[in-house]
Amino acid sequence: MPSPVQQIAELIRKSDHFLIAAHANPDGDAVGSSIALGYILSAMGKDFCLYNPSGLPGQFDWLPLPGPMHDTLVGAEGNWIFVLDCGNDHRVGPELHKIMGTRPVANIDHHLGNPNFGQFNWVDDTYPAVAAMIAELADELSVPLTGHLAEAIYLGIATDTGFFTFDNTDPRVMELAARLIRLGLKPGEINGKIRNQWTVNRFRLWGESFSTAEMHFGGQVALAVVTQEMMDRTGTTKADSEEIVNFLRRLRGTRAAVILREEPDGGYKFSLRSAGADNVQAVAALFDGGGHRNAAGGTIYDELSAAKKSLVKALGEGLQLV
Ligand code: 5GP
Ligand code: MN
Repeated sequence: MPSPVQQIAELIRKSDHFLIAAHANPDGDAVGSSIALGYILSAMGKDFCLYNPSGLPGQFDWLPLPGPMHDTLVGAEGNWIFVLDCGNDHRVGPELHKIMGTRPVANIDHHLGNPNFGQFNWVDDTYPAVAAMIAELADELSVPLTGHLAEAIYLGIATDTGFFTFDNTDPRVMELAARLIRLGLKPGEINGKIRNQWTVNRFRLWGESFSTAEMHFGGQVALAVVTQEMMDRTGTTKADSEEIVNFLRRLRGTRAAVILREEPDGGYKFSLRSAGADNVQAVAALFDGGGHRNAAGGTIYDELSAAKKSLVKALGEGLQLV
């Protein structure tokens, strides 16, 4: 029985047109793994379209692309659809979700509880990033991990491991990073490109959000808010609020960090972060969300004060805080 990576490699060898998609509002791993797969297909002389309903967020505009990133499926072809970094099939956005039944889907993902929604599924939550899975695919297809492909892989593994600081930082991913560096990737340069991309507007939004921080359970839960009004006032978008939650964990004694971000439809998108055995995925699941043990999210349709209260209560119970 061939391994999943061998089966995916065979599928690529046998077909010619592919659509590459990842979750909406893509993070570094969604963007990095999509672009990396594009470079692999390009190296093999295959046709492909890159698609994301949110397009390419501005913070990644330094990244050289193997082809245009489409934000609509009009004119985007492909007989196989690769869906990357999506814990469930809805995360690709409504436009692609609608046609997913009509074409075969290869689901490559590392989220807990992925329901194997593809015709072909390579789902393995022991990988810290989908980009690390794509690197194995490159090896399987004998595509060298150099140049722009290496940059895209690094973007995915660095961002999903919190620049090699989270518990998902394992020897395998450190060895992959070491290999990329050995093959010519410049760590100072690439980390600068990934991290030093802030606008002053983003900086101001973070300042406003930080000042809303509240502590619960004697400092074990830190919670902060990003409202539509704050984003309007600072001229920012929701992409600018990504990562704020990781910084709440810097507060001494914090076991769980929460950000609630107001959505245009009035709901609150929440992001949860923890470490070690503290399972915030189980807490997110109570609100129909999901993710990983130490990084999870979802949406609550309620007023801000009620949304805060339910999340704090659920965290207190889930993590047995007193
Ligand atoms: P973030 O808090 O950065 O948006 O997401 C953290 C993790 O939780 C990511 O792995 C993401 O895929 C997952 N996640 C965030 N929001 C949702 C959601 O609404 N539903 C599900 N199933 N997973 C989510
Ligand atoms: Mn990921």
